[in-house]
Amino acid sequence: MKLPCSIKTFDYHAENFSVHMVTSSEKTFFTNAFIVETENSVILIDSMMTISEAEFLKQSIINIGKELSAVIITHPHPDHYNGLSTIIGEDHHISIYGTEKSSEVIINSFDDKEKKWRPYFGDEWPKVKIPPNRFIQGSEVLYFDNIRFSFEEIGKGESNSDLLIKVGNHDSVIFVGDLVFNNMHSFMNDGHSSLWISKLQKIKEKAHESCIIFTGHGEPDQAYLLIEKQINYIKFYQNEIQSISQGRSHLTDDEKSIFVEIISRRYPNYKLLDFISAGANSVATEMAFSKSISI
Ligand SMILES: [Zn+2]
Repeated sequence: MKLPCSIKTFDYHAENFSVHMVTSSEKTFFTNAFIVETENSVILIDSMMTISEAEFLKQSIINIGKELSAVIITHPHPDHYNGLSTIIGEDHHISIYGTEKSSEVIINSFDDKEKKWRPYFGDEWPKVKIPPNRFIQGSEVLYFDNIRFSFEEIGKGESNSDLLIKVGNHDSVIFVGDLVFNNMHSFMNDGHSSLWISKLQKIKEKAHESCIIFTGHGEPDQAYLLIEKQINYIKFYQNEIQSISQGRSHLTDDEKSIFVEIISRRYPNYKLLDFISAGANSVATEMAFSKSISI
């Protein structure tokens, strides 16, 4: 039987923790969830989308054989929070860290997501969603098993509420949710692309050169490099939308095809091709609106 996910481990011996990166298949957008393993415990960052992926993640935690001491949800998109009830059960006593806005979005979009995705995923779509129950406001530093977790509420960026987590005494590892994609087309549907760029610029200024970023989709790599690539991708996407839409908030189907052609020619090796056209009208709307208010 084909496994729903793969798993890879990255050791940070000097910092006393390891990161186990679990990655889903193309059907669920090569999404990553992470198990941070410390000396005596594990901390889960994000929880996959479908039941079989969440079961894979749960089994990976069981295989490590250490207590799950906390869960962190990076942002309110279902490929990152959906699987949590399968992993910890409804009757749990675990702190689930995330932003208050993230919790709100998960609760408020519950029915819409159910309507949109259950026909496609069937019984693989979890019936119960568990939102964050311990809110991060602004910046906060917490220690799990003596390992430093430095949280930063980013606000609107890739999603309606993004959270960034730096782990280790030297902030050597950064988890950014979907603020950064690596060698994959980005999910542009939430329509905050200009804010997204400005938040990335601030993150880049603060990150030191040896930092490694773990992304929501794609392999980890140096922070500086990945953030630069992500900013350039968003700018290119915005510019091409603007030159095609000419201030209109909607692209015709023909225009969308041309747009997909341009983006995929510029990024020929990127995966998740469907994301290109999916976000086109959201960014066109954003561009049209920002143009009208800047006059
Ligand atoms: Zn995602």
